[in-house]
Amino acid sequence: MKHKVLIFITVLFVFVLGVVVYTKKFAAKKKIHYHAGFQVYKDGKKQEFSNIKYMNIQPCTENEKEYREDEQIEKAHLHDLDGDVVHVEAEGAKWKDLFTNIHFSFDSSKPLLGYVNGKKVDSILNYPIRAEDSVVIFSGKNPNVETALKGRITKKRIESVGRKSESCATD
Ligand SMILES: [Zn+2]
Repeated sequence: MKHKVLIFITVLFVFVLGVVVYTKKFAAKKKIHYHAGFQVYKDGKKQEFSNIKYMNIQPCTENEKEYREDEQIEKAHLHDLDGDVVHVEAEGAKWKDLFTNIHFSFDSSKPLLGYVNGKKVDSILNYPIRAEDSVVIFSGKNPNVETALKGRITKKRIESVGRKSESCATD
């Protein structure tokens, strides 16, 4: 009788463990991960963010836990030397989160204009980053707003960066 109880407990334990592992895997697959395009002009000059110094360098690994502790970085970061598409992997990301994370600041004494998908919005830095939005930010004097907006990041470009990063679970 004792034996049977022991077997029962073991089977139950293995079953519970299986459920926990399966649920965790499933939850990990459903985690937030989307992309949006952006461009910044300072006094009419387009800023370049493809430099390595703006990139979030993470090894491509299955072990997520080690790298998920920094919630602020998860909100908005750049990868793979793509300086015009932001990766969002946490809730509540705003555009200011991107610039905080890449250590890029705007001159607060100069006017700041923000456009989302070609439409002007108020206080762009507090605007949420939404999937596949294309944002253009102008700081200071910018005579060619219309031309710049026409050259904003396309949905195709955002999607292609997204596809590339799907191959790596931690992107
Ligand atoms: Zn990504």
